[in-house]
Amino acid sequence: MREADLLACPRPLAANFTSVCHVGKPPEVRGNDSSPPWVSNAVVIVAIGSDVYQHRPMTSVQTSEGRTLAYLAGIPVERVKGVGAVAVKKLGSEGVNTVADLLLTAPRRYLDRSQLSELATTPVDEVVTVGGTVTSFNKRRISRGRTMVEARVSDGTGSVRCVWFNPYMKLEVGEEVALAGVIDSYKGSLQMKSPAVDRLNQLRPAETGRVLPIYPTIGGMKPDKVRGAVANALGRSIPVVDVLPESILDQLDLVDRTHALSAIHAPDSFPEVAPARRRLIFDEFLRIQMALKVRAFDEFESQVGVQNSVRGELFNRFLGSLSYQLTDAQMRALDELLADMEASTPMHRLLQGEVGSGKTVVVVSALLTSVESGHQGAMMAPTEVLATQHYLGTENALEQAGMAPQRSDVGPQGTGSLFADEPLTTRPVRIGLFTGSRVTTNFVDGDVSRKRGLGWLADGTIDIAFGTQALIQADVEFLSLGIAVVDEQHRFGVEQRVVLRDKNGGGGVPDLLLMTATPIPRTLAMTLYGDLTVSVIDELPPGRSAIATEAVPESADIEIDQRIQDVAASGQQVFVVCPLVDDSDKIEARSAVSEFARVCAALPDVRSALLHGQMPADEKSEVMQRFRAGTIDVLVATTVIEVGIDVPNATLMVVRTADRFGLSQLHQLRGRVGRGQHAGSCVLSTDAATADGERRIEAMVSSTDGFELAEIDLEIRGQGTVFGGSQSGAHDLRLGDILRDHALLYAASGVATDAVANDPEGPLVADVMHEVAVLFGDSAQWLTRS
Ligand code: ADP
Ligand code: MG
Repeated sequence: MREADLLACPRPLAANFTSVCHVGKPPEVRGNDSSPPWVSNAVVIVAIGSDVYQHRPMTSVQTSEGRTLAYLAGIPVERVKGVGAVAVKKLGSEGVNTVADLLLTAPRRYLDRSQLSELATTPVDEVVTVGGTVTSFNKRRISRGRTMVEARVSDGTGSVRCVWFNPYMKLEVGEEVALAGVIDSYKGSLQMKSPAVDRLNQLRPAETGRVLPIYPTIGGMKPDKVRGAVANALGRSIPVVDVLPESILDQLDLVDRTHALSAIHAPDSFPEVAPARRRLIFDEFLRIQMALKVRAFDEFESQVGVQNSVRGELFNRFLGSLSYQLTDAQMRALDELLADMEASTPMHRLLQGEVGSGKTVVVVSALLTSVESGHQGAMMAPTEVLATQHYLGTENALEQAGMAPQRSDVGPQGTGSLFADEPLTTRPVRIGLFTGSRVTTNFVDGDVSRKRGLGWLADGTIDIAFGTQALIQADVEFLSLGIAVVDEQHRFGVEQRVVLRDKNGGGGVPDLLLMTATPIPRTLAMTLYGDLTVSVIDELPPGRSAIATEAVPESADIEIDQRIQDVAASGQQVFVVCPLVDDSDKIEARSAVSEFARVCAALPDVRSALLHGQMPADEKSEVMQRFRAGTIDVLVATTVIEVGIDVPNATLMVVRTADRFGLSQLHQLRGRVGRGQHAGSCVLSTDAATADGERRIEAMVSSTDGFELAEIDLEIRGQGTVFGGSQSGAHDLRLGDILRDHALLYAASGVATDAVANDPEGPLVADVMHEVAVLFGDSAQWLTRS
């Protein structure tokens, strides 16, 4: 039976983990490999946010089941035999601090001795592994200061000459090695060029099985030493208690944890390794998914939301006023949103859509639903340009729908009562824009002071607020916030989104809708935002033709200028996007400043303007306004225009030095044209400097499907870079790869969803969350993302 029960299990479980520490009697230190398992009476205190949980260690030496992984995560590596102070430092430099960390460090690969080729019969021109003794070794200088290292290795059946051009390569004569690489024959004898070498000396008896694990170097600790440490740790750790019940193991065909850890580090035969890896990868995904689902439960599913009544008068007036029919995909997404808004728990949804698929109208419908239910709506965007765009787009749409208020001067005090008793059938909708530089509304002429604008949020005068981070400053308070929409959510941290939600002065947790204009692959969405339900608008409004895309050399200025000229002459507009603001000594790429000068000189009759992020905000918005109004033909810009800019008359997108942009960025940029009645086209100028750059350009030319491009992007970049730096989620994935292991990811997500839905206080949730707390601590970045 489990001793695992949490002494106290208050919710929320998954709020920010701040620290993990141990009190009580420390684990005993034992001296040799035959020592019994670690013994401890320690009580683990896990401080999660302000709530402190006490765990008795899930196991002790008395149980027949063994120790838990969470428990092993409390035993520092220095307790492992053969890990001294220097090794502790080396391991620690790569985050291997505990016995659990060590056990979760998988071998890079394995040397299967049963699969060694004999030199006498080994095939040439194929990748093989051979083993033998070093019989000679020398180093010499060759041309241009390079060093050639030469060695001969014999296995009793024959010998092979090995060469490396690595001056640091060093082998001892007499040493046992395994060599992996291609064997070719050179002047009648066998040769390997730069084979991978595993040094097999000083193997301990336990390691001379047929399959030898080859570990990575960790913080300078040699693979052999790592192997020794892991073997010692493993010997004293197993058996390890499994968090998964037998029924799930059976159902998903997973091996148990003890088996997995033994087989990954000390397989009896090579075929044991794959199922072991599979289990460990499943566990990695399960921890992430469980944490995300538990948080969703804590913050949304177990909370009381703001009540909304859907499909009312304002909503119908707005949709009825549109000059077009919603697409099926828009309708479906809207239905999903409304169902969430009507439910008694708060919405927690991600709206994904192809560029130009018409997310805005869906979102405005949701905002109006909240307004007619007696609440306010807020929509936050990462940039001033984008926030302004949303505001202007909505202002325009309300005017078209005959729902805009009269402009008037409401007096210095503002007013909450001016419109208060208007019936919904005639009631205007009052909106405001809050950015760092200005506050403006659709019911008072001109800009107003921030203080006045904030007053209108607090007294309910403003129905819907658009804005940047200016919306989440300490002085902002809504009378009753019903829904918070966060656009391009990946640019915000969870703290900022939560702050917006907490601005609600009324009762209940507001609905939260996150939006992304760039499609992301489902596997990535699950890992980054596993706790969100997702709506997808995967259809473009009818009549849109695919944007013809071509790649031209960087030098094709004349050809590009001709295209610009033609488009401008026909009364349509052009974007020219450059990777840099200004010329740089270090980076060879077009800059907006010099490209603007060049276009002005080459096309004096075309009205051009410059737009980049370093310009003052009022200048930026003035340029955007003129471009929208059509008094500028060509906008030479940086990626400030990347997201959301909607100028239906723009039909040509030129991207200079296009290989410097990411694939999703390029797709976004291309989505800025062809949004109106005329077809759009896109020209990418590039001398693709890298293979990846070239693949991105090829993908852009051959596909206009954002979801397909997102998958290609993930393939090109690999999951590590997609998660990116400090926002890492891959950080906590040592073995798993969301692309390759997507089936395991889905399985883990299913297990976590069921566990949280059916038995949120049960042992599976508690045990996995305990692991999350002790294994990740506050490095669990993915928890702070969605
Ligand atoms: P995105 O999903 O990129 O935010 P928008 O919401 O900005 O797309 O919509 C792009 C353009 O398509 C807008 O000009 C909008 O008015 C128009 N639009 C949206 N939905 C439809 C539709 N169902 N039929 C025709 N045009 C539409
Ligand atoms: Mg939009």
